[in-house]
Order: sequence, then structure tokens, then C-alpha cells
Amino acid sequence: MAVEYLRLSLTDRCNFNCIYCTPLEKKGYLEHDELLRHEEIARAAAAFVKAGVKKIRLTGGEPLLKKNIVGLAGMLKAIPGLKELALTTNGVLLPELARPLRAAGVDGVNISLNSLKKSTFKKITGSDSFDKVWAGLQAALKAGFKKVKLNVIIMRGINDGEIEDFARLSLKYPLSVRFIEFFPVNKRSTRLKDALFPTAELKARIEAAFGKLRPAGGKKIGGPVRRYKLKGAKGGIGFISGRSDYFCGSCTRVRMDCIGRVYPCLFSPPTHALRDLIRDGATDAQLARYIKKAFIVKSHYRKDSPTAGHIEMSSIGG
Ligand code: SAM
Ligand code: SF4
Repeated sequence: MAVEYLRLSLTDRCNFNCIYCTPLEKKGYLEHDELLRHEEIARAAAAFVKAGVKKIRLTGGEPLLKKNIVGLAGMLKAIPGLKELALTTNGVLLPELARPLRAAGVDGVNISLNSLKKSTFKKITGSDSFDKVWAGLQAALKAGFKKVKLNVIIMRGINDGEIEDFARLSLKYPLSVRFIEFFPVNKRSTRLKDALFPTAELKARIEAAFGKLRPAGGKKIGGPVRRYKLKGAKGGIGFISGRSDYFCGSCTRVRMDCIGRVYPCLFSPPTHALRDLIRDGATDAQLARYIKKAFIVKSHYRKDSPTAGHIEMSSIGG
């Protein structure tokens, strides 16, 4: 399948410390000089678009911590041929940034929120800022984005009492509530592997409380989500089942981290690196040719291909 979706990690920095994400071993952050600067990100992104990408999602770390994120979003939105610009955030800076980001051209926002209870929220994120994230969600709903989605990871024994509460949000708000199966990827998240809550069980819980989920169609670029709707709902419910569903054959996404390394798959090592090429003066055509080579590697990549062994969501961006 042609690559059409780029997940772009802007920074390895984060203001949360989620139990399934940040590494156990405290590592320092990358030096500023190592990170791609705005113009470098925009050049790389334009080359991806030239090579066929239609949708870019900004992620991190926490992408809203990137200096002048609104200016950067505007630069990316101006790339000819880009159809959709979205971002995934923990939401804590959205109360002030939702409107400016929308005005800069961001089409959609995904907010990661795993509990509606302050104490559980703190246990999962290490942060006291539930109220800010909730205000961020409300600000996003008011800012006029084309799509606002909630990314929820249900973990047995931690937040599995809230499945129905999250599903209920899709009745009240024009929100797509997406339940994402948790991946044990680094030492810290591997400790939680027994907390995995499979999609089949989640669906059964939701249907027991609200009745049958109705499949919902609609066009999308590059996502592995299976979409449904509850009767009379303003929003939708989605399931992303990376553990129990095999979707490699329909995957159209690649990833670039904040220092310009390109990953054909979340589980692969980086196979290409753009930063030095850009800094050594490569032309746009050279960059696009190089990216197409990465896309060819991706087209041969499968779940059972060699993996990186150990991945850090907080630098690759999920
Ligand atoms: N900081 C932003 C946020 O939390 O939305 C963006 C970066 S975060 C790495 C991107 C997405 O990856 C989030 O929705 C997060 O829940 C998800 N994620 C992180 N670690 C994960 C894991 N072990 N399994 C599944 N999803 C994970
Ligand atoms: Fe930060 Fe997002 Fe990872 Fe949580 S999931 S630690 S908010 S990067």
C-alpha cells in the first residue's frame, strides 16, 4: 500500500510521566542542537508530501511543548498537497493553544486521556492536571476542529472501571472515543503487560451497558481504527487493536522522530535519517528520492520482521 500518513515527533520532552510510556531509567533529554529546527521540519515534511504523504500528525513527547508550535503548524499547513494536519497531545496546554492552533490550520486533535477521576489520572500520568486537560478538551470542542478524538488506554485493575464512562462521553459530545490496546514496549510498560484489556472484552462491556455498537463508515487516511456508534450518539467509538488484530497489510503510515530518523514501522529500528542530509544541503528532489527509498523498505515490512526490541513511545510518538 502507498504511504500516505506521516507521524512526526517534534520533541522528546514531556510534562507528564505516563506509566505505560516514559522509560524507567531516567535519561536526559536530547540536546537542542540535535533536534530538527522548524525550517528543517518543514523541509522534511514537504519532501514527504512530495513523495506521496497526504496527512501529517504531530506528536512527541508532548508536541505542544515545541517552541512556537502555532508558527510551526502554520508552516506545515502551507505545504502544497498536504490534505490534513492533525496532532496528538496530552491536552494540558490546549486551554490556551486550541484556538490559535485551529486558526493556524490544524484540522484535528487527538487528546490522550485515560481517567476521568483525578486520583487515577495522577496515578497514570504522574500529574495533578486533570482539570486542565478537561478544560483543554472543552476548548478543543469549541475551537472548531474538524475532528476531536479521545485516545483511551484501558488497563485492567487501573482504569477498567471507567469503560462505560468513556463510552458515555460519545453520547454527549461530538467526540470520537478511541480505545487503544496497550503495547508493552519498554521495561516500564512490560511490567504492566498483565493489564492488557483486549478489544473483544471492551466491546462486550460497552454493548452490555449501551446495546449493540453499529459499525460506522466514513473516509479516513491511514488509520487502523475500527469505528462504531452508539444509538443516538453525537460522537463515535473506535477500537485500535494493535495486539489482537493484524493490520500490517493495510498500514500506510511511517514515522519520523525529532532528530529526523525515519521508521517504517513502530516496532522497527530507524532505517533512514534525514537530518544530516538536510544539514549537508540536499535539494528537495534528493530528499524526496531518499524518502521514497524508505517507503520501499516499508512496503516489505511486516509484524514478524526484525524489531528494534525495545522502543520508546515518548521519542517516537506512538
Ligand atoms: N504526549 C502526547 C500524548 O500523550 O498524546 C503525544 C505522544 S504519546 C507517545 C502518543 C500516543 O501514544 C498517546 O495516545 C499514548 O497514549 C500512546 N502510547 C504511549 N505509550 C503507549 C503504549 N505503551 N501502548 C499504547 N499506546 C501508547
Ligand atoms: Fe508524555 Fe504522551 Fe508519553 Fe504520556 S503518553 S508520557 S503525555 S509522551
